[in-house]
Amino acid sequence: MDSSGPDTSLEPTAAAFAAMLDGVGHGVVAVDRQWRLSFVNAWMERILGRSRQQLLGRELWTEFPSLRTSSFGDVYQRAMRDGVEVVHEDFVDTSNAWFEARASPSATGLILFIRDVTERRRAAQDLKDREDRLRESEARFRNMADNAPVMLWMTDETGACIWLNRQWYDFTGQTEEQARGLGWLEAVHPEDRVRAGDIFLASNAGRTAFRLEYRIRSRHGEYRWAIDSASPRLDSSGEFLGYIGSVIDIHELKRGEERLAFVSEASRVLSESLDYEATLSRTTELAVPALGDWCMVDILQEGGGIKRVKVVCADPALEPQVRETVNFPPVVSGGASHLPSQALREGRALLVEDAGDAYKQQAAYSPEHLAHMRAIGFQSVMSVPLVARGRRLGVITFLAIHPGRRFTQSDLETAEELARRAALAVDNGRLYHEAQQAVRVREEFLQVASHELKTPLTPLSLKLQMLARSADSLPRERFPRLSSDLEMMRQQVHRLSSLMDELLDISRINSGRFSLTLEVVDLCALVRDSASRFEPEVHRLGGRLVVDVPEPLVGVWDRQRLEQVMTNLLSNALKYGGGRPVRVRVWGEGNTACLEVRDEGIGIAPEALPRIFEKFERAVSDRHYGGLGLGLYITRQIVEALGGTIRAESELARGSAFTVKLPLMPPASAS
Ligand code: ADP
Repeated sequence: MDSSGPDTSLEPTAAAFAAMLDGVGHGVVAVDRQWRLSFVNAWMERILGRSRQQLLGRELWTEFPSLRTSSFGDVYQRAMRDGVEVVHEDFVDTSNAWFEARASPSATGLILFIRDVTERRRAAQDLKDREDRLRESEARFRNMADNAPVMLWMTDETGACIWLNRQWYDFTGQTEEQARGLGWLEAVHPEDRVRAGDIFLASNAGRTAFRLEYRIRSRHGEYRWAIDSASPRLDSSGEFLGYIGSVIDIHELKRGEERLAFVSEASRVLSESLDYEATLSRTTELAVPALGDWCMVDILQEGGGIKRVKVVCADPALEPQVRETVNFPPVVSGGASHLPSQALREGRALLVEDAGDAYKQQAAYSPEHLAHMRAIGFQSVMSVPLVARGRRLGVITFLAIHPGRRFTQSDLETAEELARRAALAVDNGRLYHEAQQAVRVREEFLQVASHELKTPLTPLSLKLQMLARSADSLPRERFPRLSSDLEMMRQQVHRLSSLMDELLDISRINSGRFSLTLEVVDLCALVRDSASRFEPEVHRLGGRLVVDVPEPLVGVWDRQRLEQVMTNLLSNALKYGGGRPVRVRVWGEGNTACLEVRDEGIGIAPEALPRIFEKFERAVSDRHYGGLGLGLYITRQIVEALGGTIRAESELARGSAFTVKLPLMPPASAS
């Protein structure tokens, strides 16, 4: 306690200062010019682990020898020497902490302010580490993005493009300046641009994910189909930042789909008709521009020549070249590198991806030909032979004229697929044509032959009748077998005559010369008449013919043809009737006359039933039953010409029933 009494001055005493400095959250140390410690605050005592009593008056360097060689020592000495304030920060291993020291010169020496800045340093370090990591991850992302096999992009919240990966620039040839903002749309096909832009901007307003397809121009000027899928970018609080999207080249996929559709459409067209020139013509039209900008077909002719049957070109400006190209068909000799000639010669598909002037010079077989090819100005060509059943029929050639269009191996495969189908169609057409020709020849022959064969039968039959009459006057005992032999001969001539009639009818039906002579006919009388003509045969076979016909049933029909129907059905019933009874029934149903011929004979197998009304179809073996298989075919033709129907019901070994239904008045077409 001071004897002069309590200190009442407003100036704080050194002790009060010291107490104040003890309260601060950092170290305060004072040294005199001889580096003797004159003040150490409580914070510093804690840090140094030494008390004020131990330190005051002692030399700094002696007490803390390691300080002299530390960075702090240098700084303190500089501050003392130069009389300037120096601030320094360093890590102190012994404290495992960062300290900041401010050395301020004072009147008596130096005052050192020391702060533990470990927290701040760590926070700064953390920030730096985080930044480094971010930079590193961004570099990694960019590297990844640039090497990804797709084009990637990013927009800001306004929809402006702010980043695109290297793939985009490599593919489109755009620069960063060109692509940014909405500049990327310049690389989109003009026909797709408005649609793509609209979807893009609408999605941006709605902030929804989207997908769009468009064609994108490559740096070579070629447009390729791409699919662009985008998702909104959101920050951690869900705030919309823009979009991130990827653009994938789906050109091959799309072309594949188009090719498939094209080939299936072509197949449909090819199977539509058997006229092969018309079919080829339509296929060629289909192939342009799907498969090429120019398509032409050359067909080998019977005599060995080659005819350019069709040329189609997508560009009307090339009309003169289309017209003159008939002068430059494939050649058998010469034109060694001329693709259509070569493909035809070697029988294999060929492709020249780059058919520039060098190709044209090699391929040309005359100066005019060269000029012609140059005038068309194609850059790519492929030729595929038309081969069916090992036979070369011709060649189809495709040209790529459109700038940037080049044929690829997959184009060639599609062309081959098309050629395979086209060749089949050509072959079918030819076969059909040949078959038709053969049928015509046969019909003509049948007509002439049946006519010629029938001619001698009429006088022969007359002679037989006369002979039979003369034989009646001869004594039976001298010629016991004569009349039966003559009857047998008459039957055979009759049979031959019927067969000839059938053949003649067939040729009439085939040549469209089959006609009806309509008159009023009583079906019941007609049936009774026909049946009575069969009596001798029924008698001979030992069977029975039951005829059930009511009152007259009158209609307008062709009498002779109806007799023929009756004859055919009755003779079949007797022939296949196994000697058992045959029943004939006639009845009316409104405006329809019905006729049924039923037997109890061998019957018809179910699988044969549907075809017995066809030409030359038989359900029995030729060995057991003679016949041409024409009777029912002719019967059906007659019944249908009269506007009626014929139906057969049968069961094997049980018998058959044939039902004819005829309108009383035949349709107008019948006359
Ligand atoms: P075909 O000259 O062979 O008799 P059709 O055209 O008259 O020719 O008859 C065709 C085929 O239908 C015959 O070959 C025979 O197999 C079968 N068929 C026709 N009528 C009968 C029937 N009543 N009973 C059994 N089979 C029949």
